[in-house]
Amino acid sequence: MKKIIYFVLILFFVIVLLPTCIVLCTGKKTISSEITSNGPFVTVLKHDTGQTESYSLEKYLEGVVAAEMPASFHAEALKAQAVAARTFIYNRIISDSPDPDHPDAHVCTDSTHCKAFFSEEHLETKMGDGWYETYFPKIQASVIETCGEIVTYENEPIVAVFHSTGSGRTENAKDVWGGDLPYLKSVESSGDISSPKFTSTVEVAKTKVCETLGVTEAHVYGYERSEGGAVLTVNIGGYLFKGTDIRSYFDLKSANFEIEEKDDAFIFHVKGSGHGVGLSQYGANALAEAGSNYIDILTTYYTDVSLSKAW
Ligand SMILES: [Zn+2]
Repeated sequence: MKKIIYFVLILFFVIVLLPTCIVLCTGKKTISSEITSNGPFVTVLKHDTGQTESYSLEKYLEGVVAAEMPASFHAEALKAQAVAARTFIYNRIISDSPDPDHPDAHVCTDSTHCKAFFSEEHLETKMGDGWYETYFPKIQASVIETCGEIVTYENEPIVAVFHSTGSGRTENAKDVWGGDLPYLKSVESSGDISSPKFTSTVEVAKTKVCETLGVTEAHVYGYERSEGGAVLTVNIGGYLFKGTDIRSYFDLKSANFEIEEKDDAFIFHVKGSGHGVGLSQYGANALAEAGSNYIDILTTYYTDVSLSKAW
């Protein structure tokens, strides 16, 4: 009888307890892709705490729209932002290639890596007096009124990238990242001029230019520009530099710049803010103020696309 009890206990340990221990101890998680009426679940890595949390995509979007676009923007611009962000995240979820920087989470909250995100608790307590009561219903409406809508090209969700402010035109994806996408083409974005970030200047001493670029002469010999106006390459001191590298070296808001040469300094006159590809947020707001709805806005910035319901 004793033997039978021992045998049953060992069997119970091997079949039930051991696998549970292994899962709990290794902390291995699987990324869920179950779809509810609020969309699939999104696993989000909070980059400030290192914690991972799961949200329905629609709930997650409220925190993305609030963090990525000024809530004072027109309701139709916020809706365009919600659909673009939903498409971006949905694409990430259905692609079978998790980001190697965070393989256990679909996205992180670092705006320079994935998408900025504020939790509802943050929005309630950290946004300043009255923000939550004034703006949160508007943010929620932008998500609820477009529930499940995504931007598609030939029935596939697009890579719906966006930026703060264009330079009056957006950029071709291939001019910025090298890979061509048929719906990320340079288009007119005249509303960019309404943005406080439309123009900016940065002054850099010529000695610093020479030191940073490893050249002996701080003189500009010429530019090669993209269709959107960004600097593809610039010849400084007889050497060619990529516009995107110059942007990064000297912390310029965009790669669309003109260099004014002073006696001992370069003045970079910069147009726009961000990579310039896809939807311009300030351009979208200007279109909304002029009467465009979110569908007009999305089909202006993304070429030959349609809107589809994903859930
Ligand atoms: Zn990330």
